[in-house]
Formats: sequence, structure tokens, C-alpha cells
Amino acid sequence: NREIHLASRPQGWPTAENFRLVSTEVPTPGPGQIVVRNQFMSVDPYMRGRMNDVKSYVPPFQLDAPLDGGAIGEVVASEAEGIKPGDTVLHGLGWREYALLDAKAARKVDPSLAPVSAYLSVLGMTGLTAYAGLLDVAAMKPGETVFVSGAAGAVGSMVGQIAKLRGASRVIGSAGSAAKVERLKALGFDAAFDYHDGPVRDSLKAAAPDGIDVYFDNVGSEHLEAAIGAMNLHGRAAICGMIAQYNSTEPPAAPRNLALVIGKRLTLRGFLVADHGHLRDQFVQEMAGWLRDGKISYDETVVDGIEDAPAAFLGVLRGENLGKMLVRV
Ligand code: NDP
Repeated sequence: NREIHLASRPQGWPTAENFRLVSTEVPTPGPGQIVVRNQFMSVDPYMRGRMNDVKSYVPPFQLDAPLDGGAIGEVVASEAEGIKPGDTVLHGLGWREYALLDAKAARKVDPSLAPVSAYLSVLGMTGLTAYAGLLDVAAMKPGETVFVSGAAGAVGSMVGQIAKLRGASRVIGSAGSAAKVERLKALGFDAAFDYHDGPVRDSLKAAAPDGIDVYFDNVGSEHLEAAIGAMNLHGRAAICGMIAQYNSTEPPAAPRNLALVIGKRLTLRGFLVADHGHLRDQFVQEMAGWLRDGKISYDETVVDGIEDAPAAFLGVLRGENLGKMLVRV
């Protein structure tokens, strides 16, 4: 069994030296436990926060211990009732080839319904984040104009497509390259821009001359400031992530225009997908239907091998992914 440990805590941008590849024995299950051969693991922006030794909504990773996070794989040994070798399970012990866990901490999924990687992307946590954030937190209504940042990523690409399917009149996305902008247009976004091409405020104004009603924030900072500036009366923002500041050692310079929330009666609402589990069944059912009918497309960027999981994680922070970044373990 090979696994990735946290070797040191980064200041600013993480590097390969913060991670260590460690070989251990393949574990054997005790009573109530299972051993899973992981097939795919997720690398996510929120993991950057867990590399810091600070109190947050998820505990920090421990030094000289394996990292963890979403993973899916096949059960190879079981001492638990209801789960047998050959079953496919979703669980929270990624960053390793073999995971030993209590059966209670694993959720059985049907690998014949979708490619197993989809349970970590379009049908998984990032898909639900998009669905819950757009429809529940921001309460998007048909006919509204929606702007989403980080639009070519796992969450953002779903936000834009779900918005169109649920009747948004205009959907705008921003992303970090010309190729990503092209992809967004192919996915059905009405307008898209590369945020490197000029001030976000100007690009957004050109893409949404009549303003926006909903902003789905994956980025924060200059994007959030531009969105507040572009918002119409009673606009709502679902504050999902602020990746522009995850690696910075200085406080963000923007937004500087928060006072606008008063006169425009804006709602800026932070949320965690973990609080929206009650929507999961409805989400999976609706998303599976869209997938079956070919109404939604999803991208995955797959890096091969546990040894390259740190590179995949650094890649997601740098924007090397289209859609969901995954590691095939
Ligand atoms: P993505 O697949 O969107 O990957 C992250 C992307 O962020 C990169 O591809 C990159 O794309 C973009 N990015 C990186 N740096 C910057 C920057 N300085 N400015 C603008 N864009 C940048 O990741 P996810 O879909 O998994 O997550 C998206 C966001 O949602 C993150 O902020 C994450 O923390 C948050 N999140 C929050 C959850 C919650 O419960 N609240 C749950 C899941 C995710 P590009 O090339 O376009 O720059």
C-alpha cells in the first residue's frame, strides 16, 4: 500500500516538498470494518485550508500522517454485515491505495449506473454543491441572469448548465484561459470571458449589460467586487469558495464596494455542501435524468497514479483542470 503523508505545512503556495509518498502494509479489517482498493480519489481546493494548522469547519491534516478526502473503490475484504468483497463504495479515505475503515463510514453505490468517477464529480460532492448553491442558497428563478466564476471547474461548469436547464435567461461564466472560454460556450453558456483579459468589472459589464441577478462565487476578491457592482436590485450571491485567496499570505484587496449591498438590498450567503445532504436524493435523480437525456456534459481531468496525487492537487489550484480533477489510484 502506498499513501501520501503531509511532510510539512506550506506558507503561501504548496510545493511537492510538503508531501511524502510512504509505503505501508495492506491493512486487514477488524470487526465491522472493510478494506477498499481505491480506484479514484478527489483533489479539492478546500484541502489547501486543511494543510494549515488552524481551526476551521474541517480539522487540519496532521503532520506525518496520511491526508484524506473523497474516494471511491472496490471492497477487497470485509468483516462487516451488508458489505461484501466486490462492492463499490464511496468514502472519505483518499490519498492512499488501500483504505481501512468502518463500514458505517462507507456508502455503497451502483457501478452499473454511471462510471465510478462520476460519483466524485457530476453525481457527487461537486455536483451537489452546484445544485444546492444555485437553487437553494441563491434561490435562482427562471428568467434571471446568472454569473458564475471558476466556471470551467467541477462546480462552476455544473452551475452554468443547471442554471440554463432551470430556466435562467442568460448565463455568464469566467475562467482562466481561452480554451476554457471556448468550452464554456460549447456547454451552452451565453457568454464567457477569460479573467486575464482585463478588469473583471469591464468584462462582466460587456457580457451582462443589464446586470446580474445571481452570482455564484468560487473565486472571491476581484470577481466578488465586480459581481457586487453588476448586481441588480435584490440580487443574491451564493458564496461557495474564494480560491483567489487560498494561497495568499496577504488579506485580499477586494471587495471594496460592500456598501452597495445596502442600497441594492443584496443577499450574500455563504454555505457548505455538507449542510445540504437533504437535497442529495432529489439532486441525483434530476442529474441522472439530465445525463441520460444528454442535456448535461461533464469534464474530468484524470491524473494517473497515487504518486502524482500531490501534482494533481497543485494542478487544481493552478487551473490545470477542465471540470473535475481526479486521481486514478
Ligand atoms: P475547480 O474544479 O473549479 O478548480 C479550481 C479552479 O479555480 C481552477 O481550475 C482554476 O481555474 C480556478 N482558479 C485558481 N486560482 C484562481 C484565481 N486566482 N482566480 C480565479 N480562478 C482561479 O474546483 P471545484 O469545482 O472543486 O471548487 C470550486 C470552488 O468551490 C472552490 O473555491 C472550492 O473551495 C469551492 N467549494 C466549496 C464547497 C462548499 O461546500 N462551500 C464545496 C466544493 C467546492 P482557472 O483556470 O479558471 O483559473
